[in-house]
Parts: sequence; C-alpha cells; structure tokens
Amino acid sequence: MEYILEAVQKNGKICGDGPFTKRCSSWMKEHFSSKEVLLTTSCTHALEMSAYLAGIQPGDEVIMPSYTFVSTADAFVLRGATCVFVDIRPDTMNIDETKIEAAITEKTKAIVPVHYAGVACEMDKIMALAKKYNLKVIEDAAQGVNAYYKGKALGTIGDFGCYSFHETKNYSMGEGGALLFQDEKYLESAEILREKGTDRSKYFRGQVDKYTWVNYGSSYLPSDMNAAYLWAQLEEAEKINKKRLEIWNFYHEKLAGLAEKGWIEQPFVPDYATHNAHMYYIKVKDLETRTKLLDYMKEQGILSVFHYVPLHSSKAGMMFGRFHGEDVYTTRESERLLRLPMYYSLSLEEAGEVVKALQAFKEY
Ligand SMILES: *Cc1c(COP(=O)(O)O)cnc(C)c1O
Repeated sequence: MEYILEAVQKNGKICGDGPFTKRCSSWMKEHFSSKEVLLTTSCTHALEMSAYLAGIQPGDEVIMPSYTFVSTADAFVLRGATCVFVDIRPDTMNIDETKIEAAITEKTKAIVPVHYAGVACEMDKIMALAKKYNLKVIEDAAQGVNAYYKGKALGTIGDFGCYSFHETKNYSMGEGGALLFQDEKYLESAEILREKGTDRSKYFRGQVDKYTWVNYGSSYLPSDMNAAYLWAQLEEAEKINKKRLEIWNFYHEKLAGLAEKGWIEQPFVPDYATHNAHMYYIKVKDLETRTKLLDYMKEQGILSVFHYVPLHSSKAGMMFGRFHGEDVYTTRESERLLRLPMYYSLSLEEAGEVVKALQAFKEY
C-alpha cells in the first residue's frame, strides 16, 4: 500500500514505464539473468507480442499442448495461425517432447512449451528440435516465474518467455505479465509494438526529439500503480517462494501414504526442474472418482478444483486447431486431476485439514 501511495502521491505518475516498472524489470533482468524484460499488461499480451515478434503469419502452424490455458492458443490465433496440439507426458502434464517432431510440417513456425505448475518442460530436447527445423520457441512460463530448468530461469531459454502476474499466480500485480527475450535485435520492435506502434520509448530516452507512428502496435504497458504492487512482491520473492514450497512439501510428504496405497498419484518433478510450488495437484483413478471427491471436499468446506478442459475438445479449439497423433494422455489425465488449496497465506494447520479430509475419503 505504501508503494502504491508512493506511485500516486510522490511520483505523481501512474501511467506506464514509471519508476516502479523500471525497478521490477531491472530486478527480473538481474534475478533471472534475462537480457531483456518488458513488463506487460498480462501474460496473454506477452504471448501476443511474442507471436507478432516471431513473425507468425496466417496459415502458419504452431505446436503446443492441448492441456493449457486458452491464452497459449489465442495469441497465435490472433495472427491467423493454426494450433497443432501435441499430447502431454502423464508424469509432468507438460508437452511430450518425444511427440513434437512428428507434428512438424512445412508450415510449422514455432513451438510453445507450457511449464505446467512451474515444473520445467524438457527444454534441451525442445531447443534441439527448434534448431534442427529452424523454429521459434515461445515459453509460456505464466506459472513458471522463479522456477528453473537446469539452473536457467524458465522464460529465458526459448526465443521469448512470457510471465503472468495475475492474482492467481505466485507473484501478483492484479493483472499483469512480462515478456522476456535474450536477443537484443527484438528490443526496438518490441518497444514499438508495446507503445501503440510509436517510437515513444526512444523519445523518453532522448534518442529522438519527437515520437511518431512507425509500425503496427498496441498498448501493452501496465500502469505504474500495478507495478508498485508487484515491486512489493518481488522484494519478498524468496519469502513467498519459501512459504509456497513449505506447503507443497507438506502436502507431498503427508499424502505419500495414499499414493503408496495406489489411491492417488502425486506430482512428479524431474531432476532437471527446480519448481516454484505454483500448484499442488493429485490425480485419482478416473473422472467419476474425481467428481465424488470434489463434492466430498466441498462438503468438508475445502475448495479443491479441477483444471483445464483440453483445448482441442473446445469449440474454439476445433475451429482453430487440430490434435496431432493420438490423445493418449491429454484427456485422460486432465479428467483425473484436482488441485488442492495453495496460496501464500495458507497455514500448515489448514493444509493439515486438507490432508485429513483426503485421508478420510472412502471411495478412491
Ligand atoms: C495464467 C496463465 C496465462 C494467462 O495469464 P494472464 O496474465 O492472465 O494473461 C497463460 N498461460 C498459462 C499457462 C497460465 O497459467
């Protein structure tokens, strides 16, 4: 609240690219070792910017998982691309890197790995494929802020990385996000795109004496008031991360017994991934069991929820995309998954209540 007051009263500047925006992007550049970080109005918008900057054209194909949020697809649909959905791995719920190559055609322009639950995709394999076929890689790291693949921050491995600071994510500014890239050749176009197609960023730096319309653009810069809110969160990033991991590890340890009995499955984190406890989910036998369990949890006063309905089976997914290969895991695994309460202010006592309720459920 102090920082918001500072933005409003002291700085007297709540439009975009004020002092708090600069602090947030510099912090991320340093902490995530990213050459460029531009704060945006959402992860959806960071994805839209990526699709534009990657030169996606009508008729191009973009490979992505079907088990993801709609924005992963929307950003490319806006450029006229077709979404080609590839099956997920049942262990991480991430795109199956071994099934991508078969989905590549003459029209393929990009791969969009989504780091589900902040657990990294197998990026070495994906980057090798991208290199072999000359494709762009756009990481949907909406859930992967402060999570790593072999020590590299998610969002800094592909050509572009997209973060979300939506209220439901680990670090929040209400609505917001960031676009990351490592190649400075994109900087000028990205700045123009973000500032309504003008060279206003150059003007603010004193590099030109007036700004004009130089290319297509939109408005992707958030208010500095929102950045002030985010700045307070970034300052406490390690504290927030530690607390979330504590809850995650608590669930993981306490629910191991149910997993040993074969009643539930627990999330898997590969050795190459350092996750950020964005989410704790379990998987049960089938859809019917999950429905019963969700109702039961609700009766206990605990909100546990399912997650994505696979995009290829949605109305828009059928219009704008196709599934390549066989849907072995996407639908099946999505129907078995439920998420447990996971947020910063959740106490271990409360998490303990969740565990007890799950242990007392009789119909696994
Ligand atoms: C939350 C989320 C988004 C969208 O983020 P916004 O900042 O709300 O636009 C995109 N992709 C994934 C995987 C997400 O979880």
